[in-house]
Amino acid sequence: VTARYVRVAVPVPLHRTFSYRVPDGMEPQPGVRVSVPFGPRRLVGVVTDGPDESPPEGVDPKKIKPLLAQLDEQPVLDAELRALCAWMATYYHLPPGEAWLQPLPPGMTGGRSGEAKPLTMKTVTVAHFLRAAGDGERLSARMAQVLKFLETALESTAPDLRAETGASLDTLRRLAAREFIRLEEREVPRDPFADLRAISHPAHEPTPGQRAAIARISESLGSFSPFLLMGVTGSGKTEVYLQVIEAVLARGEAALVLVPEIALTPQLVARFRARFGDRIAALHSGLDPDARHEQWLRIAAAELPVVIGARSALFAPIPNLGLLVVDEEHDPSFKQDTPPRYHARDLSLVRGHLAGCPVLLGSATPSLESWLNCRRGKLELLELTERAMDRPMPPVSLIDLRAYDFADEDKIFSLPLFEAIRENLARDEQTILFLNRRGFAAFLLCRACGQSLSCPACSVTLTWHRGRGRLICHWCDHVAARPAVCPNPECGDDALQEVGFGTERVEGVLRELLPEARVARMDRDTTRGKALNRLLDRFRDRDIDVLVGTQMVAKGHDFPGVTLVGVLLAETGLALPDLRASERTFHLLTQIAGRAGRADRPGRVLVQTYNPEHYALQHALTHDARAFLAEELALREALDRPPITHMAVFRLNGPDADAVMREARSVAHGLQADIDAAADPESVWLMGPQPAPIERIRGLYRWQLHIIARQRAALGTLIARAMARLDDAKLPANLQVSLDVDPQSFL
Ligand SMILES: [Zn+2]
Ligand SMILES: [Zn+2]
Repeated sequence: VTARYVRVAVPVPLHRTFSYRVPDGMEPQPGVRVSVPFGPRRLVGVVTDGPDESPPEGVDPKKIKPLLAQLDEQPVLDAELRALCAWMATYYHLPPGEAWLQPLPPGMTGGRSGEAKPLTMKTVTVAHFLRAAGDGERLSARMAQVLKFLETALESTAPDLRAETGASLDTLRRLAAREFIRLEEREVPRDPFADLRAISHPAHEPTPGQRAAIARISESLGSFSPFLLMGVTGSGKTEVYLQVIEAVLARGEAALVLVPEIALTPQLVARFRARFGDRIAALHSGLDPDARHEQWLRIAAAELPVVIGARSALFAPIPNLGLLVVDEEHDPSFKQDTPPRYHARDLSLVRGHLAGCPVLLGSATPSLESWLNCRRGKLELLELTERAMDRPMPPVSLIDLRAYDFADEDKIFSLPLFEAIRENLARDEQTILFLNRRGFAAFLLCRACGQSLSCPACSVTLTWHRGRGRLICHWCDHVAARPAVCPNPECGDDALQEVGFGTERVEGVLRELLPEARVARMDRDTTRGKALNRLLDRFRDRDIDVLVGTQMVAKGHDFPGVTLVGVLLAETGLALPDLRASERTFHLLTQIAGRAGRADRPGRVLVQTYNPEHYALQHALTHDARAFLAEELALREALDRPPITHMAVFRLNGPDADAVMREARSVAHGLQADIDAAADPESVWLMGPQPAPIERIRGLYRWQLHIIARQRAALGTLIARAMARLDDAKLPANLQVSLDVDPQSFL
């Protein structure tokens, strides 16, 4: 018998696949999971190539270990997903194991233990009626109640019976023991939407713009056609998605819809459920591993033809994909900033190409990347210019904070904004106040020596949270008590002052200014677990007058009672060392402005700022995304920054500052030598190496090295060489090097 070999992607951080011998009786095809020995460990990997009769070149066949087990009869990754994984591994320079295992739920890869588990279905106890009680058969009141109920219902689940009669499982078992009823365990699908409340949405006639977009996309079903659907908030992008998906389902195909965050888009999900009922699958971080696993299997079995989820849903095993939608395509959450690093919007175009279906990127404020792709003819622009039901965009006014007095000592509320909030309250209308900074004070500053209180493990100041009575590091979650005196050993003064303000302080000051108002806060501190849904429900039910929040309030919520939106400080994000600072500020302001006046009442938006001349603010004032995009693109062009050029960043971190610096310089040295030797050295250049803007996080020193190239291919070649050197290098175990292609974060 001839020996056979396969290549396997194994979850280890090396940029290569590994060869294994196929024992007799196994037939592993590409896309099948296998259990393999790896050093002393046993890991779950995915077959990428083979089986092949010739052993890999230059390797002694006797040294190739056999597969331990074949875990699937049929591939769990179909040809389309395999091609997507391979593309992703190449483009992002990922270890193949990271890319090829990405589509699989943790239960199928065994995670760290390397032991894949079969899915256990959720079961529910069902009671069946057998007979009524005869004369002289004595039953407790509750047992009699259950039996009476079942006599007409004939069967019922234990949870329903408990709700109906209060009967415990124990009561049911006693009834079953006396053969009044029969109990059965039945498998039930888990409901991925169990935590979401249904929200009704009035139907209305499509606008001419919606009709044209629906027609254009529908006629391109069945072939790869990428679109940018640009429409102001409230222009009805969702209705376009829904109608095109109906056309996709009518063709017997499936649709995939990516949203920034399921929990923050309950309206969108609710409208999908109202339209498509229980044909919807959900893949999102709120699901427990078993629920995720079950959704995955049901999608693969073509039971659920509409898949909705956050970025990782891009890898859903949909057998016959007919449409891909990326809603709010500009949202930064589509970029995964932990390994494997990828951008779900960019990969959606790759998957659409592989599947041969339209890809619909939707946004009111497109990313510069997508806008440039439109200008270059890679995306077809579809515009929705009218708001549904002819509602005008809310007027936006800037309040120059240098020109007004304040209603409070902390200088949070200018008099015009405060008056507007009070008037709105008097009219019994709702207000949203937005500030992109949580906590009470931004930090504590010693007035005697000028030092601010910093995190011991990170080079950032600690944020004072008065409600919890703690200083908290927002980077490493370090928690400290508030010291009575300045911790600087040469100072020790008691002059610690709270400087700056966050959402918690805004909430507190507002309660003092307007004691009659019902004020609530929505940020990461107040929305753990199910608290977010409760808060959203209360606001929608109008149990809250003023909602103070971070960017969580800016997402796609539709609150009909909101007629005033106040932005407390527009420039919080502008000072960040981030090439997208202006773009993000424009997106956030436009999105938050879109929360005002979505019902029959007109809304208005007041934006407080010390920097009213900034172009991002000026264009947000006029809701002019095109003007902003043109100005921002010109700026990037002048600075040779993405998306005009292509960028990648090597990040290095470790506990030894000198070792990190040395290695950063060594990586840069190798890259520079390659650049100098290249045909066109002028078209690629390095920035750095230099310490990251936040030099230390969790006790680790951080350096970074940016590579910028005019051509994508040149960037790829350089990085591949650098990666090969790093794979061979003997780096200290505590020194980590990571690569981020098309970085979104610069901190
Ligand atoms: Zn001091
Ligand atoms: Zn910290």
